Amino acid sequence: MQAPVLQLDRVSAGYGPIPILHRIALQVGSNESVALIGANGAGKSTLVRAISGLLPVSEGQVLLSGQDISRLAPHERVARGLGVVLENRHLFGELTLRAHLELAQVHGSRRAVQQPFTIEDVLALFPFMRARLQSPVELFSGGEQQMVAIARALLLQPLLLIMDEPSTGLAPKVLGHIVDAVQLLRERGVSILLVEQNVALAARIADRGYAISVGRVAAEIAAEKWRGIIDDEALLRVYLGG
Ligand code: ATP
Repeated sequence: MQAPVLQLDRVSAGYGPIPILHRIALQVGSNESVALIGANGAGKSTLVRAISGLLPVSEGQVLLSGQDISRLAPHERVARGLGVVLENRHLFGELTLRAHLELAQVHGSRRAVQQPFTIEDVLALFPFMRARLQSPVELFSGGEQQMVAIARALLLQPLLLIMDEPSTGLAPKVLGHIVDAVQLLRERGVSILLVEQNVALAARIADRGYAISVGRVAAEIAAEKWRGIIDDEALLRVYLGG
């Protein structure tokens, strides 16, 4: 049987002596889109840092296509196909949009890709970019910078893309661009782990989900239940608190 694209096997992590994540187990299958929901402070961003290598895991393993990447540096994980769009985007303000896109093309994953994402793909996805290629990205709005972060992640040719709260601060009109980007990723066989407090968006994008609470997986929400999640207020109260 094919190994899941991402598998977390009892992953624990924290900040110095403070434990935050406790034996997290979850997986994302081939060409699957999975959401991670949970209240503020549940540990979602900490989990993204542990998967991407920005925070060491103290216990357990992070497996990408069956290979243990838990001890690799962040850039080595990218080289193996782990794409991450972090909440604070990590753009280089003074560099132009064109430089961001070209750098991503050069530093992308080393895996063999049948149909790689091209700069033309991202310009078709985010048309506002065509006229802005020479602009430093620090001049872009928050929503536009989010698009740049997603465009860059695509050009890194990921096998799995993790997006941490991509909807934060975005106008409803712009959310459609995220949905379009996810659609294109899925057409090209890329799996997605979406961290979102906007459950309406998560429900639209993901096939199923996990709820994280106080650093633990509180629930695994299968596809049938996930489809009705947005109307299940009682369930959402349990998962998101309040
Ligand atoms: P949010 O949706 O509000 O971003 P989250 O689920 O992503 O929340 P985390 O940011 O992972 O939650 O935070 C989990 C816990 O870890 C919180 O109690 C937070 O205060 C703590 N924490 C986060 N970053 C650090 C840090 N650098 N040092 C110590 N504790 C931290």
